[in-house]
Amino acid sequence: MCGIVGYAGPRRASPILLEGLKRLEYRGYDSAGIAIGRGDGSLSSVRTVGKIQALKDAVPKDLGGTWGIGHTRWATHGGVTQANTHPHFDGSGKIAVVHNGIIENYRALREMLAKEGVVFTSETDTEVIPNLVARYYKGDLEAAVKAALVHLEGTYGIAVIHADEPGRIVGARNGSPLVVGVGEGETLLGSDVMAFISSTSRVVYLNDGEIVSLDPSGFRITDRSDSRVDRAADAVTWELGAIEKGEYPCFMEKEIFEQPDSIGRALGGRLDQDNATAKLGGLNLDRRYQRAVSRVNIIAAGTSWHASLVGAQLLESVARIPASADVASEVRYRNPVVERDSLWFAVSQSGETADTLYAMREIQRKGANVLGICNVVGSTIARESDGGVYVHSGPEIAVASTKAFTSQLAAFYLFTLHMARMRDMSRAEGERFLAGLAAVPDMIKTVLGRRDAIQAVAKKYSRRRDFLFLGRGLLYPIALEGALKLKEISYIHAEGYPAGEIKHGPIALVCPEVPTVFLVSDDGLREKVISNIREVKARGGPAIAVGVEGDKELEGIVDDFIPVPKMDSRFYPFTMVVPLQLFAYFCALDLGRDVDQPRNLAKSVTVE
Ligand code: GLU
Repeated sequence: MCGIVGYAGPRRASPILLEGLKRLEYRGYDSAGIAIGRGDGSLSSVRTVGKIQALKDAVPKDLGGTWGIGHTRWATHGGVTQANTHPHFDGSGKIAVVHNGIIENYRALREMLAKEGVVFTSETDTEVIPNLVARYYKGDLEAAVKAALVHLEGTYGIAVIHADEPGRIVGARNGSPLVVGVGEGETLLGSDVMAFISSTSRVVYLNDGEIVSLDPSGFRITDRSDSRVDRAADAVTWELGAIEKGEYPCFMEKEIFEQPDSIGRALGGRLDQDNATAKLGGLNLDRRYQRAVSRVNIIAAGTSWHASLVGAQLLESVARIPASADVASEVRYRNPVVERDSLWFAVSQSGETADTLYAMREIQRKGANVLGICNVVGSTIARESDGGVYVHSGPEIAVASTKAFTSQLAAFYLFTLHMARMRDMSRAEGERFLAGLAAVPDMIKTVLGRRDAIQAVAKKYSRRRDFLFLGRGLLYPIALEGALKLKEISYIHAEGYPAGEIKHGPIALVCPEVPTVFLVSDDGLREKVISNIREVKARGGPAIAVGVEGDKELEGIVDDFIPVPKMDSRFYPFTMVVPLQLFAYFCALDLGRDVDQPRNLAKSVTVE
């Protein structure tokens, strides 16, 4: 959520900060600003509401200064106004702070500081921070930040500069990510590596409770007890091309079309044909423990939760292990029973989702092993989990997740195969499952080839206000995901339901104005869904079906039919979600929405 960038080096800071903020746009934000040290004992600052382009337009082209900080804000406390936009300053204007997260005790701190004469100029929780730093500042910014942090309760990633300390940036992290970028004669800071990826690919991740003091020559990390932390830099392997749109008009379309490759990467090196199983190197669990697992619980949020629902069903039906998937924000406060021999998963594209991270820590506190399924290498969940599976989708920039979803599915299919083969699944059955999985990328290619037909269907329906998405079994979570995608980027209201459940309520919505999208497999549930379609048609509701190629009966009863190639029915979640992604995308495009950065949403939700 929201972003931080910092630069200290020999180059002019403003273009570097602006580029960093541009690359952080994908995280979701509503306003942005920068503060730059001029080297004459003062700071320059520009802050604007709206897009980075507005900030770019407002920043003087010749703005000097070689160190500074920048921020994209996703408002939590105080409206979206220029006064609330970061950076925030102390009364003297010499100290600037950018902050991600929420200071929970800010009211008490504001009162305390106001009594001491501080006048506040914003409604934010953040503004207490520069004023606390000023309270303790005696010529050493790092020491003053440390003293200020003692007062703060809540979550933060912060970056602080002082007009009188050229080249110095102090960063601190508690619950919101911060990464140091190590360049040649320059040092950078970011809320994720995207903030500085075009300057350096050598990075050092901060942990909660750590403080970094950096200047052009390097950085120094200390922990809560003021001990020095030595940590070597990791190399980020992303190519710059992976974070650019290339020939596509927006990231979401690019990412939808990347799926044959991204799934290929998730499966890469993990299909063990010799033993008819999956090879997962990062589980870090001994075989006896794995064999003894009696239950799998999965925690996640949003799209990751939908992938987890597929994962849980699959683990039950294929590996015969009782499994369930739950929303992380609920699990955390429910005081769940953590059974012995239960294995937990925390699933998050960014690996920074606050709800999932806190729920994971709570489960670990209760003594269970939690495996992570993450995309971002080195992210907090990836580092703090007991092991896990990287999905290797490559950077996902569009706020609405697509390729990370199908790669998360791939991770669950691999894990299921691995667990099933440790239990009752035969070698022959393992081979069949492997073959099905290996075929997925090509099947998705075929579906993507139907782009224009799907666009035509989207055009026909994009002005409708409400939709129902229905599926059964493994396709029920796909119905949820289809509805979520449509909501997220087109702002059309949509509800996902298990198809069999509509007669218990939602069928009251069915009328000629409300289309229903059906997901129809060719397994034992097909007949049941066909009956549901007839129920909807009988009440005048338009029906769109994503079904299996050649299903003439289905094609005959629905208004619009989007076919996917025939395959082992356990793998339809992969292929049937793709038309729904495209459908949502084309509806949003038709309505002129900002597809990559939908309103109110953030990519990596680092607040509760
Ligand atoms: N809580 C702060 C604010 O509302 C920071 C929000 C953010 O993380 O962008 O200004």
